[in-house]
Amino acid sequence: MITIQEAFSILKNNLPEPKLEMLSLAKAKKHTLAEDLIAPICMPPFRQSAMDGFALGVHEGLVYEIIGEIKAGDDHQVVLKAGQAVKIFTGAPVPDSATAVMQIEKVRVSGATLTLEEQPKFQMNIRPIGEQNLKGDLALKKGTLLNAACIGFLAGLGFTEVLVYQKSKIGILVTGNELILPGLPLKHGKIYESNSIMLDIALQESFYENTTVYYVNDDFENTKNKIADALVENDVILISGGISVGDYDFVEKALETLKVKRLFYKVKQKPGKPLFAGKLKDKMIFALPGNPAASLTCFYVYVLPTLQMISGYTIEYGQTVSKKLTHDFVVSNARNQFLKAHIIGDEVTVLTHQNSSMLNTFSTSNGLMYVEDGGYQLTKGDLVEVYVI
Ligand code: AMP
Ligand code: MG
Repeated sequence: MITIQEAFSILKNNLPEPKLEMLSLAKAKKHTLAEDLIAPICMPPFRQSAMDGFALGVHEGLVYEIIGEIKAGDDHQVVLKAGQAVKIFTGAPVPDSATAVMQIEKVRVSGATLTLEEQPKFQMNIRPIGEQNLKGDLALKKGTLLNAACIGFLAGLGFTEVLVYQKSKIGILVTGNELILPGLPLKHGKIYESNSIMLDIALQESFYENTTVYYVNDDFENTKNKIADALVENDVILISGGISVGDYDFVEKALETLKVKRLFYKVKQKPGKPLFAGKLKDKMIFALPGNPAASLTCFYVYVLPTLQMISGYTIEYGQTVSKKLTHDFVVSNARNQFLKAHIIGDEVTVLTHQNSSMLNTFSTSNGLMYVEDGGYQLTKGDLVEVYVI
């Protein structure tokens, strides 16, 4: 049995080579840029009016002759002599001959005569060409995680597609003779299958949307064949259940038969002791315990950071924040523990129902409090480490 830290470093040393792909901007959300992007245009690309008002051929007096108008989107050239003005709107191209735009609130208009309330300042209310960026400037750096602002910025520069780190295609393989799909009547001895939808949604919440679910009963041949199929069809597979030491747990033997290289099996932790990680060429395999809370804990602590690293995120395993415990808490365990917890501000409270089979308090949890093994007392106000989920 290895430690959590050892598991992290084994995973880090065995990450598959990232794959790259071109994606349309709309599809590229929450992907990481795989190359520096250079601005193909100046932004703004022309001198732009920042106000509704009048572009001026500035002269000494306050009275101007209005000779026309320029709306946003117009491209006709207006040549202003000193003392002439053209009505202009926000976003419209400012004539080369204009040296200021006076906002509409500071003028009076009578027919074709414009009177200013004050003298304009040189270049006022004109956005110069390239005020945001010049053509050839670095727009976004390789490694940038594309959020809404990034996508908007790139669209504004005319990009339609970008080279990004691919997000893995993920197979979720569910084992267990006792499992029945929600919606069907529950017979004695059966339980509803909940891990596949839970893991799938956890993936979707982190924008991993290319997933396939496979079901397999507790039978060696079946388990082996379904895992083989899932390995062909996906980059990463998550197996739920069947990885413990029971007579009907066939996942370990199936993986071994399929020549999956074992990275580790069993971690000194609670929940999630039977966690298995393996690799077959560039495919990653995680076998997660079937107990739902253990499965989800292992997902957040091991699987999600792995997927994110494969897709180019700047992230580490074991990223926690320090929070103040709101109550005394007795630690008494031979394994390090991840405890369902609730964070409010800089404080954390350990929740009830810590058993790995129970999801009821996981549902109200927004963090996993991490405590080292041993027998000791934590006191209200102590700083503890928490995984934010
Ligand atoms: P296993 O890891 O296969 O020994 O399963 C451990 C426990 O988790 C058992 O009580 C199973 O019934 C339960 N379990 C396994 N898979 C699922 C699942 N997909 N949904 C809900 N509970 C499960
Ligand atoms: Mg089972």
